[in-house]
Amino acid sequence: MSTINTEHFWMPFTANRQFKTEPRLLKAAKGMYFTSQDDRQILDGTAGLWCVNAGHGHPRIVQAIQEQAATLDFAPTFQMAHPLAFDAASALVSIAPAGLNKVFFCNDGSEAVDTALKMALAYHRARGDSGRFRLIGRERAYHGVGFGGISVGGIAGNRKQFGPALSGVDHLKHPLNISLNAFSKGEPEHGAELALEFEQRLLATHDPLTVAALIVEPIQGSTGVIIPPKGYLKSLSEICKKYGILLIFDEVITGFGRLGSAFAADYFGIMPDLMVLAKGLTNAAVPMGAVLSRDEIYDTFMHAAPQDQIEFFHGYTYSAHPLACAAAIASIHVYREESLFDRAATMSKAFEIAAHRLRDCPNVKDIRNLGLVCGIELTPQVGKSTTRAYDIFHRCFWKKDLLIRTTGDIIALSPPLIISDDEIDTMFRKIAEAITEQSAE
Ligand code: PMP
Repeated sequence: MSTINTEHFWMPFTANRQFKTEPRLLKAAKGMYFTSQDDRQILDGTAGLWCVNAGHGHPRIVQAIQEQAATLDFAPTFQMAHPLAFDAASALVSIAPAGLNKVFFCNDGSEAVDTALKMALAYHRARGDSGRFRLIGRERAYHGVGFGGISVGGIAGNRKQFGPALSGVDHLKHPLNISLNAFSKGEPEHGAELALEFEQRLLATHDPLTVAALIVEPIQGSTGVIIPPKGYLKSLSEICKKYGILLIFDEVITGFGRLGSAFAADYFGIMPDLMVLAKGLTNAAVPMGAVLSRDEIYDTFMHAAPQDQIEFFHGYTYSAHPLACAAAIASIHVYREESLFDRAATMSKAFEIAAHRLRDCPNVKDIRNLGLVCGIELTPQVGKSTTRAYDIFHRCFWKKDLLIRTTGDIIALSPPLIISDDEIDTMFRKIAEAITEQSAE
């Protein structure tokens, strides 16, 4: 193995000094597998970071990017554009829920979140309703790392180094209730009434006419796979409608087939006003984010400003970057041609059965799953500096050639949608072994 100079790269969301004592390095990837720096084939149980939905190195996507790089490496989309920008927007709309017909491109999930929040605030102003300045999120929500995202996000750790962030933000409770819904399969039975807290909060604490938007992840992924109870999202959506509040779905994780339908909005049968996307949009091969908007929101902006003026004063140098557009068009083509969303729906049954076999492993407190997402929550470990889950992640990477993710005491799994029955069995068998070995020490 060649030696790597680890001096200069300041790693994101990583204990840099600890990492550098035993760096986990990945040097190549194909289909369901990474190749590690020491030439092991590592089964990808997390689709990278919930993003490589069609599997790694898909030839069609690789080719599209290569050809685009050779043809048009960059063109601005301020006051001019390139045809692929329009084609990528149309391709995205072709798989989006009906009514979400306008696309604003950015470069990742964090930018897409901040774009959607700004769009929501500016939309109300464009309608002449400038009193709506409040944004509501939820506890344990992850909405990226922009100032908007960490403000509406419900993770104190993401804010505490940076001061007060945005004002006028409130957070609803998250809907995880293990004592009522332990080992639930799919949407948990109990807890829809938690949504009513939203209306109570609006009436008791805020004037509802001051609230611009509610942002939710249909499934809270990064903080440990929190699946909404049956009826909960529908109630939130009805309360939003009742009070003229925009509903933003952050589908950065749930988009592009993760739940077995194109988007969680389709799965849950709910039409948000704005939808935040990234990750699977380009199968992660080139960074790209997007906000999908209802026509009426776009039209409001168009009517509010004079013809020759900029309607939404926002954008990025790399909005609709040609390489990202090429990757998005190719990825959407692959999802469709290979029926990957249906495939995810089909495989989710075997995934669920294999996941819940771990119920009797030591220290397993809860298992929850929907589509090709699963969380395995372990009992906390007292008197040790690391969690059981982190120890298991480490064992899986070094000893079992398997990549999993952990957050606190929870193991989170979200494999590429191309996973086979055998790979599902292998993945959960290895995790079961690792949990058992860990508990024996
Ligand atoms: N929203 C959600 C729901 C996410 O899970 C993430 C990333 N995991 C983001 C936003 C931020 O995306 P990015 O890391 O691409 O900025």
